[in-house]
Amino acid sequence: MLLKGKIALITGASRGIGRAIATRFAQEGAHVAFTYLSSVEKGQALEADLQQFGTTVKGYRSDASDFKAADELIAQVVADFGTIDVVINNAGITRDGLLMRMSEDQWDEVMRVNLKSIFNLTKAVTKTMMKARSGSIVNITSVVGLTGNAGQANYAASKAGMIGFTKSVAKELGSRNIRCNALAPGFIETEMTGELNEKAIEEWKQTIPLKRGGQPEEVADAAVFLASDLSKYITGQVLQVDGGMVM
Ligand code: NAP
Repeated sequence: MLLKGKIALITGASRGIGRAIATRFAQEGAHVAFTYLSSVEKGQALEADLQQFGTTVKGYRSDASDFKAADELIAQVVADFGTIDVVINNAGITRDGLLMRMSEDQWDEVMRVNLKSIFNLTKAVTKTMMKARSGSIVNITSVVGLTGNAGQANYAASKAGMIGFTKSVAKELGSRNIRCNALAPGFIETEMTGELNEKAIEEWKQTIPLKRGGQPEEVADAAVFLASDLSKYITGQVLQVDGGMVM
């Protein structure tokens, strides 16, 4: 059990990658706090489902883009679990469109949910981790943050911003034994990518050396590594889980 006894908070775990990470963490012996926003029923179902692993699991309805809510969430999780060892900043959205047609709202919403959220939560958890003199923060970015992508100027900028944030936090908090890494999935089969057109997906897959999309569980495996002591001398890095798509 790679995460036995660790207390992990995962944002946006009602479905997709976040759900797979929450599940895998509970399997590996972690106590899991997780958040959701609109998928209340799915959040409650996950909380019930993860009881089978015998660790403490609790879901919270909390908007990752809300600064005050992040503070309240951390206080509540610490009250419920005692401390927080691992934070996975996973909540994210897309509002795609070509720049010419992109509205200010599309830009602002993606920046708030994808980028401001990691400032909110990381800042809020820092005191707890500094007191414990240990912690692992994992920010779920995207390979698009490294390469850019037509039609995703807002999303790519938010994901690139997450990488700059990750490296800065790694430098600031390393002396306190708090690690901060980014995990960059490529094309992973979830509801987020399910919105894309099938022909485009097939063309994309052909450009991937492993010739297939990834599964949320494969991202979760990498998250276990970055959260666990197996990576205890690794900080400020971007780990790609993309079948070789970007190299
Ligand atoms: P998804 O299936 O659309 O799930 C997104 C999750 O984020 C949901 O649980 C959703 O909760 C939550 N969420 C959205 N806005 C939120 C908010 N304001 N506060 C709290 N939770 C919020 O997406 P996914 O594919 O699993 O992606 C997860 C992360 O991986 C995202 O950061 C995404 O950018 C990144 N990523 C995905 C891919 C991919 O190919 N799928 C590739 C690279 C990176 P509710 O439903 O409850 O609102």
